[in-house]
Amino acid sequence: PAPVRLDDAAYHRLARSFRGSLVRAGDAPYEERRRIWNGAVDRHPALIAPCTGSADVVAALKWAVETGTAVAVRSGGHSFPGHSVCDGGVVIDLSPMREVRVDPEARTARVQAGALLGELDAATQPFGLAVPSGIVTHTGVAGLTLGGGIGWLSRKYGLSVDQLLSVDLVTAAGERLTADAAHEPELFWGMRGAGGNFGIVTEFTFRLNPVGPTVLAGPVLWPVEDSPQVMRFYREWIAGAPDELTTIVIHRKAPASPAIPAELHGRPVVMVIACWVGEAAAGEEVMRPMRAFGRPLLDLCRPKPYLAHQAMFDASFPHGWWYYFRGCGLDRLDDGALDTMARYAGRIVSPQSGFPLFQLGGAVARVGEDDTAAAGRSLGHMLNINGIRDTPGGFAEECGWVREFWTAMEPYHAGVYVNFLMDEGEQRVRQAYGARERKLDRLRALKAQWDPGNVFRLNQNIPPGPG
Ligand code: FAD
Repeated sequence: PAPVRLDDAAYHRLARSFRGSLVRAGDAPYEERRRIWNGAVDRHPALIAPCTGSADVVAALKWAVETGTAVAVRSGGHSFPGHSVCDGGVVIDLSPMREVRVDPEARTARVQAGALLGELDAATQPFGLAVPSGIVTHTGVAGLTLGGGIGWLSRKYGLSVDQLLSVDLVTAAGERLTADAAHEPELFWGMRGAGGNFGIVTEFTFRLNPVGPTVLAGPVLWPVEDSPQVMRFYREWIAGAPDELTTIVIHRKAPASPAIPAELHGRPVVMVIACWVGEAAAGEEVMRPMRAFGRPLLDLCRPKPYLAHQAMFDASFPHGWWYYFRGCGLDRLDDGALDTMARYAGRIVSPQSGFPLFQLGGAVARVGEDDTAAAGRSLGHMLNINGIRDTPGGFAEECGWVREFWTAMEPYHAGVYVNFLMDEGEQRVRQAYGARERKLDRLRALKAQWDPGNVFRLNQNIPPGPG
């Protein structure tokens, strides 16, 4: 659709109070600024408001409410379905606000909402500290945290929200406040898993925990034909594994990465990628049986900086490629689920497509289901089926593979992680908050209190409810 022109009077009304450089359709930076990570998303907002501080967020939000303009909130811009950009509305863009301040004595970090995971890690790792986050460094701290946050430290330190101490936010009414365990505790509960629904976060405070700087980590690769045996072995191997170990299994064609010998590039493989956060000798011991199983094609598991491990997937998910993802939780790895995975792994066409299977449990499961809005505390795994093309060519076929595979997994579905949803409708958002209606009712009551007009609706939406 053609970009919507903003009426000049409305524009100037905001421009008078806004300190950042507003971007309208036709302005030089517009094309670049309207783009988000997923190249398959092509939307034309009427206005982009890059905020320099919380005063800008208040100004842009109040203006949007007064003028009845739809609001999209953008931090890292990595929303799979592209909720951080809209056709015709305003993008309240937090990406200029990315300061991270670490207090190594108190073991806390104050993190502005526009910071990326890599920027957070870069600030905390010099002190041997970290926040559990995600596995691609160019993802935004804000969207990831507000939905939960799973990654390499999940089993040791829980979800990102489990280390969140407070949030500074701007409410739909344009009010600034801090929510934590003592102030607006119910709101703080909701922010930890459904956070995009209740306000715009300007700053997070996280608790920091010891990590690295070296971890024992990396992938071991087998031919995809061995997947049924490798996965059955994997299932036994991780049963009862210590919390220091978090693993992700990926089926895909081996990427043309410099770390992988050229003769393996493009070969369909199953890789078990481990990250051991703890004493190295104990890690070697735990890892040994997995590394010795069958006949691996390649073993790249070794001591390395945590920062290097955090960046290992960056090149597999660059900005601007075409992405279509579907996810589901799994209670356990049933034989049928493993056989379905092996079957669909064998049908991957694109050199970029694949499906990471995140291991959960450990610290994630020790937090009560009702303690945070983030759900699925007792799940064993989270699957994310990735249809990827570097150009639009062949993308429709990848989307077909994703849908068919996801449907074939339906007998094993157990909920879904809200941050792995596309635009899949109300029923799926309901599933993301667990089978317990109680949690959704509680979230709907909170929404009615803090955003009765559903100003924040370009998200995995919780409709305001009677409570
Ligand atoms: P944005 O697109 O900027 O924001 C997404 C949504 O979050 C917005 O639409 C809005 O509803 C809300 N939001 C953003 N900022 C704010 C704010 N300041 N205040 C209030 N609401 C806000 N997730 C994991 O848990 N673990 C992973 O390992 C992981 N890996 C990923 C890798 C890639 C390459 C990508 C693209 C995503 C990954 N994700 C992962 C999913 C990720 O958590 C979500 O895509 C998340 O929404 C990204 O946050 P963002 O700030 O970059 O996105």
